[in-house]
Amino acid sequence: MSNKVAKELADFLLQIEQRSQLHAGYPYNLSCDYSAIGKFFNFLLNNAGDPYIEPDFGLHSRKFEQEVLSFFAQLYKIPENQFWGYVTAGGTEGNFYGMFLAREIYPNGILYSSQDSHYSIPKAAKLLRIQHNVVNSQINGEMNYEHFEQLIKENRNYPALINLNIGTTVKGAIDNLDKVLEILERNQIKDYYIHCDAALSGLILPFLDGAPQVNFQKPIDSIAISAKFIGSPLPCGVVLTKKKWVEKVETAIEYIGSSDTTILGSRNGHTPLILWYAMKTRGYDGLAKEAKTCIDNAQYLFQQLKIREYPCMLNKFSNTVVFQKPSQKLIKKWQLAIYENWVHIIVMQNIDRHKIDTFVNELLLEEGLVDQIENFQRQSALH
Ligand SMILES: *Cc1c(COP(=O)(O)O)cnc(C)c1O
Repeated sequence: MSNKVAKELADFLLQIEQRSQLHAGYPYNLSCDYSAIGKFFNFLLNNAGDPYIEPDFGLHSRKFEQEVLSFFAQLYKIPENQFWGYVTAGGTEGNFYGMFLAREIYPNGILYSSQDSHYSIPKAAKLLRIQHNVVNSQINGEMNYEHFEQLIKENRNYPALINLNIGTTVKGAIDNLDKVLEILERNQIKDYYIHCDAALSGLILPFLDGAPQVNFQKPIDSIAISAKFIGSPLPCGVVLTKKKWVEKVETAIEYIGSSDTTILGSRNGHTPLILWYAMKTRGYDGLAKEAKTCIDNAQYLFQQLKIREYPCMLNKFSNTVVFQKPSQKLIKKWQLAIYENWVHIIVMQNIDRHKIDTFVNELLLEEGLVDQIENFQRQSALH
């Protein structure tokens, strides 16, 4: 390797290390070390085809993929012999897969999802040519159930394909599965398909006491989870569904000696290994602890802003703290995500209390809120 190449790599490494230190606006767990499996990056691993069918091609990590899927299936309460799924390229592919199955099962179905849904949902509807009725949202980002019911009533003769947000991207809101089921029943909709977009919260909610439980013990049909919370150097995710649905849509492909059940052809063989390693080293208990810490720290950040009367919001069981947009300088420095007049910090494993305190101090200084508080204290002392 030439000196020039070495220098460019060293510079880039430094830059990435610095950027990782101040990264608060996006839902990625940056506290992971995968050096133990680094040696596999000198090999090709391609899991093209169905994760459960042994192909002729030998360089794959299906064994690990299957274990990862079983780990998720257990968490989502679907028996081994009834589920199917695969390790995806991320939340988006999982959402596409859910929408694809829904449309194959109910070709004349209408999709309902709230306006706070991730942009991959309307994109899937467009690609798959599914009629999409956008449901209004409440101010907290949750679906407006009255509007949903009105739309369902107007389209009573069509199957309902529903995307439920289990933690929205911007506000971390959770659509209420029980309310949606009640509305379907009240309007006698028998043909429906429920996909859950649990990109981030899918690995948080199952571990929180008192949180709404969304799993296959209720009539959901598929769920997409991204590796955001697990943390992975390569973006990826998992989609789970019922085996019976996949059997309806699969086609055998002789060339790969497998069945064409996935959206993509070539599939990353390293990501199952990454997820497997995470799951083996942290387990349900480790992940549960991380989830609780993130939620506690999010509440801490929220309280810090609230006691200073800084405009802010935090949904129940969410680690996404939404607050009024600060200066461009702070937004850039902390890599905050902007939405209209708001930004958010997503309190992941790498956002600890020390970082929160540092951020809050910088914000208050900038806003002159520190002065105000001191002034207020001085004035109160005078009276
Ligand atoms: C991030 C996110 C997605 C997309 O996941 P990718 O892994 O980026 O493809 C989908 N839905 C929600 C709610 C998300 O937050």
